Amino acid sequence: MNEPRAQLVPLAAADAPAGRKAPLFGLDAESLTRLLASLGESAFRGRQLAEAMYRQWLREIDSLTVFPAELRARLAAEGWRVGRPSIARVFQSVDGTERYLIDFEDSGPKGKTAEAVWMPEGDGGETDDEDGLEEGKTWSRATICVSSQVGCAVNCQFCLTARLGLQRNLAAGEIAGQVVAVLARQGVRVGRDRVNLVFMGMGEPLLNYDNFMGAVRLLVGEVGLSPRRMTVSTSGIVPGIERFAAEPPDLRPRLAISLNAPNDRIRDAVMPINRKWPIAEVLAAVRRLPLRPRERVTFEYVLLGGVTDRPEQASELARLVRRANLPAKVNLIAWNPGPGIDYATPAPGAVAVFHERLKAEGVAVTLRQPRGRDIFAACGQLKRTVEG
Ligand code: SAH
Ligand code: SF4
Repeated sequence: MNEPRAQLVPLAAADAPAGRKAPLFGLDAESLTRLLASLGESAFRGRQLAEAMYRQWLREIDSLTVFPAELRARLAAEGWRVGRPSIARVFQSVDGTERYLIDFEDSGPKGKTAEAVWMPEGDGGETDDEDGLEEGKTWSRATICVSSQVGCAVNCQFCLTARLGLQRNLAAGEIAGQVVAVLARQGVRVGRDRVNLVFMGMGEPLLNYDNFMGAVRLLVGEVGLSPRRMTVSTSGIVPGIERFAAEPPDLRPRLAISLNAPNDRIRDAVMPINRKWPIAEVLAAVRRLPLRPRERVTFEYVLLGGVTDRPEQASELARLVRRANLPAKVNLIAWNPGPGIDYATPAPGAVAVFHERLKAEGVAVTLRQPRGRDIFAACGQLKRTVEG
């Protein structure tokens, strides 16, 4: 990995490559202002453009009616377009989850698509009550899951995305654009609806660090989402965690570590990246993260039948978490099967026993329900299934 670099990096060069339509989506208000200034326009035009793309979610320069027609035409003639990623296909689950095939129009044929997921939660079946949901609305809170790369280089043995290998990094605008596409589709009211964002789709966000944090800056600064409602999950990329720890608290999402094993021996086998950065080194890096009041780090733990789901491993995990000496909670996930992956789902009852054992040992633990299994939207099942 590289040396830690400056935390604030430019989002993208504000120059249209000759003969190619360049996306404006991905440039922050400051870069847009510089761009419009270079065309001889006043500074407020950049702000208006940012407002239109990130707050009103306009997708075409032509819809930008606050701009004179002549300016719209000039932008188009110079090769600019909004270029926000689009939802090419929707897969709907019986549980309300939607999986999206996202099309990145600007990329070449390789790595043209990735996936994002919308997971709504009802209000506990009270939707018909007076205190329930607004008319026409079927969710009271929801989680959006986005991809940071097409494929992944990390090679966790239980994960379907790993089978693709790394095809390419997504740009900041391509990561943030997935979020905006889903917000727009669902009519989310930013600042009012309870919507969480997780960087847990395809890819390892901390191996595409600048673009991942560039997306966070756009989502916080331009779109208006709160970083406290965002969680980034990592397989344990130590130099990435160290850079992350230096981010300003008002910009930093919460951190989740995919632990997935109670000791290095098992973790080496299921997550070969552990040979490079073993558990103790990952924990040491996490400990350097300045946590906000009441903030906790999440340890994700995938239960692999017969491999990581035994009751004595729950006790071993509890000891590991206690020794880590961090405000932490464990999030258990039963392994979701994928074609050609040689693991087993936990035996009936094993998840409950594991869960109870952790609780009894005093560990804060939640059990993640698999969502959208029927449409392969559940964790680790995201693998491009259709070419866009
Ligand atoms: N690359 C990052 C984020 C994407 S993976 C990471 O690994 O943390 C998001 C989560 O899904 C991780 O916690 C991972 O362990 C989990 N996961 C991967 N494959 C899974 C599967 N088949 N079933 C259940 N969870 C899985
Ligand atoms: Fe990559 Fe995460 Fe899958 Fe591991 S679990 S291969 S890091 S996406």
